Amino acid sequence: MSDRSVKTSAAPGTLYVVATPIGNLRDLSPRATDILGSVTLIAAEDTRHTRQLLQLFGIDTRLTALHEHNEAHKANALLEAVQRGDSLAIVSDAGTPLISDPGFNLIAAARRLKLPVIAIPGACAAVAALSIAGLPTDRFAFEGFLAAKSAARRAQLEALSAESRTLLFYEAPHRIAETLHDMVAVLGGGRAASVSRELTKRFETTYRGTLTELAQQAMQDADMARGELVIVVAGAASEREATPVDVQKILRVLASELAPAQAAKLTAKITGRGRAELYEMARAFARDE
Ligand code: SAM
Repeated sequence: MSDRSVKTSAAPGTLYVVATPIGNLRDLSPRATDILGSVTLIAAEDTRHTRQLLQLFGIDTRLTALHEHNEAHKANALLEAVQRGDSLAIVSDAGTPLISDPGFNLIAAARRLKLPVIAIPGACAAVAALSIAGLPTDRFAFEGFLAAKSAARRAQLEALSAESRTLLFYEAPHRIAETLHDMVAVLGGGRAASVSRELTKRFETTYRGTLTELAQQAMQDADMARGELVIVVAGAASEREATPVDVQKILRVLASELAPAQAAKLTAKITGRGRAELYEMARAFARDE
């Protein structure tokens, strides 16, 4: 371990990817503070937002805007400055840059130019939510934001339905109920899942349960749709069991001919899946038609 008392200074001609807090300002690491205070320039997603953060830490480094609309053309000029010896830090509004945030073009170009790129790690909402979800962490897939429209979202979920890794999603609060509803319909209501909202902030809450339980809670509890959210969903069950797609196909066919309770009962017999979970799925299919 290196000496905690030694202050780090930005090296010339180096690009730093600096994580900032996702809520609690004390999550800005001392090393991040050192680097942000000693680089020549900080490229920020929103300069006003980052200026406020820097002011709280007594940092007055020059800022420039780098967001999804100007990244492609601005990256070159920034990297030329790094090639001339400037040190540059990139930050986003919250958490780790590039993770559902701008920065990919800049870092890819820096790598092509063989410039030194250093990570200053810190908060990331997806990893924080995964670490407290109580779901398998040995293998996981980060999916970012799903599509805003239900048909496209369901198609994305269909493509993920056989994925056995734990799934991580970011979601906007006003879409949480409909997204959980789509997850029940496509992935099956019995999967264990969690929804973490407002991580590191005053109203931090993690809801846990099956997808069906969480979808029901989202309809009843307005608080669940307040603030920022990460959804964590258990991966598909092992291959020995029927895959979620098989289960859904069987249930869909039966539910198109029979009442939800009867379709669920028969599908449970065929696939070995829980009747209550299948009943909720069959009702979701019926509501969709
Ligand atoms: N780069 C960020 C990171 O490392 O987590 C993510 C940026 S992305 C534009 C913003 C999304 O991250 C939010 O819509 C929400 O889904 C999630 N998020 C950010 N902060 C959060 C928090 N404090 N609690 C829960 N989710 C959060």
